[in-house]
Amino acid sequence: MITLRQLTKTYGRGGTAVTVLDRLDFEVPTGRIAAVVGPSGAGKSTLAQCINLLERPTSGSVVVNGEELSGLPEKRLREARRRIGTVFQSSSLLSRRTAAENIALPLEYLGVTPNEARARVAELLDRVGLADKAGHYPFQLSGGQAQRVGIARALALRPSILLADEATSGLDPDTTRSVVGLIRQLRDDLDLTVVFITHEMDTVRQVADTVARLDHGRIVEQGTLVELLTSHESQLGRSLQPRRG
Ligand code: ATP
Ligand code: MG
Repeated sequence: MITLRQLTKTYGRGGTAVTVLDRLDFEVPTGRIAAVVGPSGAGKSTLAQCINLLERPTSGSVVVNGEELSGLPEKRLREARRRIGTVFQSSSLLSRRTAAENIALPLEYLGVTPNEARARVAELLDRVGLADKAGHYPFQLSGGQAQRVGIARALALRPSILLADEATSGLDPDTTRSVVGLIRQLRDDLDLTVVFITHEMDTVRQVADTVARLDHGRIVEQGTLVELLTSHESQLGRSLQPRRG
C-alpha cells in the first residue's frame, strides 16, 4: 500500500523555484496496479522518485506499507528502499555485465553470499522467462528481454512495491503486451503494489486496475479502468477509448 498525502516537491529556491508536485494526494492499495499518465513534464518521474525517496519531498508524507518514509534518517531509508523496486525505460542495464550479473547487482551491494545470490538470480531469471539467457550481455538481448532483466533486477531484494517509469516505452506492441503480461503475473504471484507510469493509452488499458492523470503536479482525474472506460464524460475516459479503424 502506498499513501501520499499533500506531497509537494519544489526544485530550486527563491525566484527560480519550480513546484513540480503540488500538495498531491494519491493512494495505491496493496496488490493493485495504478497507471499514472499525463503530459511530458507533468511530474510523473518526480512522483516515482519521491515514492522511492531518491528525491526527498519538500513537504507532505510518503507512507509505504504503514511506514512513513519521508522523515527517516538515511540509514533507515536505505532499508526501506529495499522494499521498493524500480524499472526504467530501456532497463538501464550495465553493458559489461551479463543478465545474471546485472540481476545480482543489488544483492552484491547488500553483501548477500555468492551462493545465495546465485540461487536467487536463477529463481528470478526463471520468473521472468529468461532461464536460458543468464550469460547474455545486454547487447545480445532484445528490447523486451532487456526489460525482463530490468524487472528481475528490480525484484532482487524481494520488494513489495514495483515502480515502472516508462518501462515499455520504445517497445513494439507485441513486446509491450508480453512485458505487461509479465508484470501482471508477478503482481499476482508476489502480491506486488505497482505504479505504472506511461504515456501509452493502449498499455494503460492492458495493465491498469486504476488510472490517475497527473497535470501540473496534481492528480486532476482518477478512477478504476472500468469506470473510466464506461464514462465518456471525462477527458481521461475519452483518451482511454480504443481507436477504431
Ligand atoms: P516525461 O513524460 O517527459 O518523462 P515527467 O512527467 O516524468 O515527464 P518529470 O521528469 O517529473 O516529468 O519533470 C517534471 C518537471 O520537473 C519538469 O519541468 C522538469 O524540468 C522538472 N525537474 C525534474 N527534475 C528536476 C531537477 N532535478 N531539478 C530541477 N527541475 C527538475
Ligand atoms: Mg518521466
